[in-house]
Amino acid sequence: MKKWSLILVAFLFLVNACGPSVEGESKAWEDNLKAMEKAKTDYPAFANEIDAKVTQAKALWDAAAGISNEEEKAKKMAEANNLLGAGCLGNLVDMNDKLKEVEDAIDKVESARKGKTGEDRTYAEDALLDAKNAITAAKESFNSGRCADVERAFTKLGTVVTDLNTAVTKITASETQAKDSANANAKKEVKFVKCEYCDTQNADTLTECRKCGAPLKK
Ligand SMILES: [Zn+2]
Repeated sequence: MKKWSLILVAFLFLVNACGPSVEGESKAWEDNLKAMEKAKTDYPAFANEIDAKVTQAKALWDAAAGISNEEEKAKKMAEANNLLGAGCLGNLVDMNDKLKEVEDAIDKVESARKGKTGEDRTYAEDALLDAKNAITAAKESFNSGRCADVERAFTKLGTVVTDLNTAVTKITASETQAKDSANANAKKEVKFVKCEYCDTQNADTLTECRKCGAPLKK
């Protein structure tokens, strides 16, 4: 039983490790073409860029159709797909998800920084400012029609997400530290109870007065 499952795992691993398959690439191609059509509507400034890339990819795709060896065919198909998924056009397609990611990270920082002061606050403010500038730059890059702007903006969005997350981590770490030291102080701080008979101060951990033995009221 165990042996069989191991063989099955090994088999599945080999199938997955075999690289591109004709079926998988065909599916990806359909998705990519749809994504390119959508990108043309969403980012009209890049319509020419997109058309040119699609033409280039289609040439690779057509070349793949003429290859009889399945493995070679799939490889060529993957090349066509990679051309559409890489660089500026891939960034354009992924940009909205990236922007959403940045906006979610901004929300987290804004709620975490409430009531905070000092270095953590400064770090958070800087990260927020950076993020807002990066969003503006990304939105401007949509209209620029320049691939370099899109790629730079996309990379920057990735950096600001990291910074925003770091800002939250810093705040959380400070909060934990503050709580820990408050707990430690609370433990150290011994409270006293005054004996109502002899006025002796007793640690509140005691139940009877250490001097006269009377029960201590707490
Ligand atoms: Zn007493």
